[in-house]
Amino acid sequence: MAAGGCLCGAVRFAVYGPVGAVAVCHCSQCRRWGGHVWGGSLVAAEDLRLTRDAGLRWYRSSATAARGFCADCGASLFWKAEGEGHVSVAAGAFDPPTGLTTGKHIFTADAGDYYAPDGPPPPPGPAPERLDCRCLCGAVAFALPGPAGPVTACHCGQCRRLSGHYAASFDADESALAWQNRDGLAEYGTPAGGRRGFCAGCGSSLYFRAADGAFSVEAGAVRGPTGGTLSAHIFVADKGDWYTLNDGVPQAAGAGDG
Ligand SMILES: [Zn+2]
Ligand SMILES: [Zn+2]
Ligand SMILES: [Zn+2]
Repeated sequence: MAAGGCLCGAVRFAVYGPVGAVAVCHCSQCRRWGGHVWGGSLVAAEDLRLTRDAGLRWYRSSATAARGFCADCGASLFWKAEGEGHVSVAAGAFDPPTGLTTGKHIFTADAGDYYAPDGPPPPPGPAPERLDCRCLCGAVAFALPGPAGPVTACHCGQCRRLSGHYAASFDADESALAWQNRDGLAEYGTPAGGRRGFCAGCGSSLYFRAADGAFSVEAGAVRGPTGGTLSAHIFVADKGDWYTLNDGVPQAAGAGDG
């Protein structure tokens, strides 16, 4: 039996059956939802038992599919298509070690401009002067000056639980954010005093504010080009066991330099 849950514990599940290989999805919906990319494993719907669902909410992300997330911490947990007998469960939500492997990358043509699905990041493209950020449902939207610049991927346990795979973000000046909508905005306080911003209406990951005020925006939240480049992998000592890093980008076991 495999088990897992969200970061805060308000959603817990067990799987009484086979868990498929992880499909890493690069579509724009999954990127916005998870904050970078989203990885899910198919399980039969009848094998998935919710052992705690206090935080679980569903957002209908298309005419035929819904996304389940934790409204308390913002973790992106489940994707299910109507009328199909299976649910895709976030790889990052499984308790480690997961024993999972990555089976395939899907919707790779929709990948963000700051990384490549398999291999080194592409050379920097156009540098937009303004970055429009928006959650999946539209209840949170803001703009900030671009380009994104260096993007850091974080493999820590918190980022894996929340994003469903691993996270990627870039530093920003919070005072430069121009808010257009924050009706759905929620924050989850981490044990170390940080705040993780997400949309309580759809579960999209949006930003992180560290205890010292350092602010970073999830790269997946940006609509269109970021003008950024994946420049570091951090906390790789903590990384998930279902993927390998083969993009040539420098890796740090912990928080990296500075
Ligand atoms: Zn939670
Ligand atoms: Zn939303
Ligand atoms: Zn992290």
